[in-house]
Amino acid sequence: MKLDNIRAAEAKLLLQTYDRTPILFVRGEGVHLYDESGNAYLDFLSGIGVSALGYGHPKVEAAIATQSRALLHTCNLFYHEGQAELAMRLTEMTGLDRAFFCNSGTEAWEAAMKLARAHAALLRAEGKKVGTKFLVLEHSFHGRTMGSVSTTHKAKYREPFAPLIPGVEFVRFNDVADLKAKFSDEFCAIGIEAVQGEGGIHAVSQEFFATAHALTQQTGALLLADEIQCGMGRTGQWCAYQHYGILPDVTTLAKPLGGGLPIGAMLCTDEAARAFTPGMHGTTFGGGPLACAVAIAVIDTMRQSNLLAHVRETGAYFQTQLKSLAARHPSITAVRGMGLMVGIEIESEELAKAIAAQMLERRILINRTSETVLRFLPPYVIERQHIHQVVEALDAILTTAAVVIGATRHDQ
Ligand SMILES: *Cc1c(COP(=O)(O)O)cnc(C)c1O
Repeated sequence: MKLDNIRAAEAKLLLQTYDRTPILFVRGEGVHLYDESGNAYLDFLSGIGVSALGYGHPKVEAAIATQSRALLHTCNLFYHEGQAELAMRLTEMTGLDRAFFCNSGTEAWEAAMKLARAHAALLRAEGKKVGTKFLVLEHSFHGRTMGSVSTTHKAKYREPFAPLIPGVEFVRFNDVADLKAKFSDEFCAIGIEAVQGEGGIHAVSQEFFATAHALTQQTGALLLADEIQCGMGRTGQWCAYQHYGILPDVTTLAKPLGGGLPIGAMLCTDEAARAFTPGMHGTTFGGGPLACAVAIAVIDTMRQSNLLAHVRETGAYFQTQLKSLAARHPSITAVRGMGLMVGIEIESEELAKAIAAQMLERRILINRTSETVLRFLPPYVIERQHIHQVVEALDAILTTAAVVIGATRHDQ
């Protein structure tokens, strides 16, 4: 089918949940995606932080080929080789004790929320005073299922689905006084993204994170770190919380974990894990042999090629380049990020939209989040030449920005 036919068919046949860009991708190689006419696009989005090793990585392809010939699915009533092997790696990487596997980010966060509730119930049974409420941050994003969306801040994502789960409160981002005022023994957990992704690439402060950790430790509530976007090496450490020297009770991983295949994981301490006993939680597909084999290949590849150091180095270089760009173009009002999780704040939504559209015309994939933030989540395997290409394109676009905005206004 041609793109026009696909668009017409989707408009009639699919729920209209996405506002897609009209490009038809048919294959990928390295850090490039190719459309049906063979045009190459430099990918600085990675399918929203997923394709960390780029496309067509030989180790990922080999793991898929080998495992698909051996065994695709067993269900969680039986053993297979993958889960223990993957858990060994993830516990070492995260500093936590145990893993639960699922299929996506939102499922990992649901597992974390259910664990927090069950753990609080266990503590209550043991005579402690711990409530059932969740304290999460303004501008948070934790996913789209009913529990996750209840802890997600944006009204557009939440309000159509009311009533949501009760007992969720939002604390102002990085406002330590608000955190201290709102937290009490009525809460079973505080949930934090060390670096907010959908919220516009904002890192929590050391003091805020440390205060949340201390508060939860006082009552026995769990500190839940959502590392679905900022984890698995994206910021140059396996987990973004490692930059802070803070160990949460629970963390959630997904996006890049399966190198493009869907897999999610929740990791937690032995103490928190006491709350789940057989039958309390589960999944048919979660932690299947194929997804585990690929996640193991992703991790082993990252380790063998010392990719965390590469992320730190290229990320720092990218930010330096963007900062000197911002010095020349005052319409860039901020450059933020950690490792290869980077955002630039543009002075107006209109200009941010125009820049994103112009980048696409130059066949560079980026994304706009929180209205005025251009977000960059490139594959970890990018090189300096790719950074130069992106920065030069931004420079050229910003130089003619006034003209571009004029043209956009004229179009409307
Ligand atoms: C993407 C994301 C999720 C949800 O993951 P899905 O796989 O889309 O369900 C949750 N939390 C954060 C921080 C995310 O970036």
